[in-house]
Amino acid sequence: MDEAIALLRERRDEHLHWLRELCRIPSISAQPAHAADVRRAVEWTRDRCESIGLDAEVCETGGHPLVYAEWTGAPGRPTYLAYGHVDVQPEGDRTLWDADPFEPVVAGDWLTCRGAADDKGQVLVYLRAAQAWLAAHDRLPINLKLLIEGEEEFGSVHLGPFVTANKQRLACDGVLISDTGLIADGVPTITCGTRGLCYKEVRIHGPRQDLHSGTHGGPVVNPANALARLIASLHDENGRVTIDGFYDDVAPISEEERRLSQRFPLDEKQYAAELGVPGFGGEAGYSVQALRSIRPTLDVNGIYGGYMKDGASTIIPAMAGAKISMRLVPNQDGADISEKFERTVRQRCPRGVRCEIIDHAHADAYVTPLDAPFIAPARQALQAAFGGDVAFIREGGSLPILPMFRRELDAECLLVGLASPSCNAHGPNEKVNLRDLDRGAEAITRMFALLAAV
Ligand SMILES: [Zn+2]
Repeated sequence: MDEAIALLRERRDEHLHWLRELCRIPSISAQPAHAADVRRAVEWTRDRCESIGLDAEVCETGGHPLVYAEWTGAPGRPTYLAYGHVDVQPEGDRTLWDADPFEPVVAGDWLTCRGAADDKGQVLVYLRAAQAWLAAHDRLPINLKLLIEGEEEFGSVHLGPFVTANKQRLACDGVLISDTGLIADGVPTITCGTRGLCYKEVRIHGPRQDLHSGTHGGPVVNPANALARLIASLHDENGRVTIDGFYDDVAPISEEERRLSQRFPLDEKQYAAELGVPGFGGEAGYSVQALRSIRPTLDVNGIYGGYMKDGASTIIPAMAGAKISMRLVPNQDGADISEKFERTVRQRCPRGVRCEIIDHAHADAYVTPLDAPFIAPARQALQAAFGGDVAFIREGGSLPILPMFRRELDAECLLVGLASPSCNAHGPNEKVNLRDLDRGAEAITRMFALLAAV
């Protein structure tokens, strides 16, 4: 391992050059005008994989292409699949950037550029680690497969079908992903779960058209009033969601996870200040950290209907609607919650109006089992590279590819994120801490050897 790590450190300038080259490609997957740039980023990645000694090819998916690369010269040793993406979010309002969004700027330990943290810098740590082993020893301690896609920021539309069609080729003992963040700068972090999502839209229909609220107000049920009552009824006074059976399948959190998660408590005051809120609410009896990660939620994302322009207009609106999302936790099932939501909302819809419910999106929650074989090696490798204890956290957002990998490849996912909490991913002046990337690359280099031993 020592030779590989020495080599990794020697090549630091070359790696910085890789990151600059890749960051300069404006691979915005959501914008058709940049499709050729996404392809260029994918081809660049293939070339880099080949140059360090992996077999690599660009695969067509029906959307943006992806790169598949492998080194499978260690029969009998475990096989790991590293996943990442080289497409990026649009740069947004250019005037909010301090420099050209696609011209990397290095200042101290930071490199600023769209895609630097999400996810180009993080993808490259796997190439750096593979290069270190192959250059030092002509071999890797494990079999390594790489799957680097070009449309993650566009919903990974074609990734699932590609994985399903290539199960044999992608077969592995675990999936390694660096596309999340550190809990704090310099603190190594394993994200051990993400929440699921169920997104609905409710429309309450009343009269054929908007009515005079003086002439008809009273007997006619107002859709906006009805919607407001309905929404208010979805939580009780303790902040619990009142959809019948909503909590039935919520799995209790393991003692092990509770213990691990309590070692890095959230500073609630500082968090409130960051968000600009005067305080917190939510389900009674849970910490802010628990509420934003291990508990399910129901939130109104938008309300519309009735007169919304200048001055006063005395009408009873014909219709009012709301978009409502629920974040789900293990073992809530998206389809089941969707049905329960519909049943409850229809039951509570008052007479005199009609309720329409539209389905928008579903994603399952995911939790990495803490007894998965890669957990101990990952922890040991991160501790050695960062020189501190590892934080275990759950992420409140959703990552539908995690349950997809579990289902299609029968493999669990290890989320080792290296992005700083202040990385501005998706926003202006996205940046990555080069020292955290160096430590991450060292951790992955160490992890390859440790994974071979389990
Ligand atoms: Zn990402």
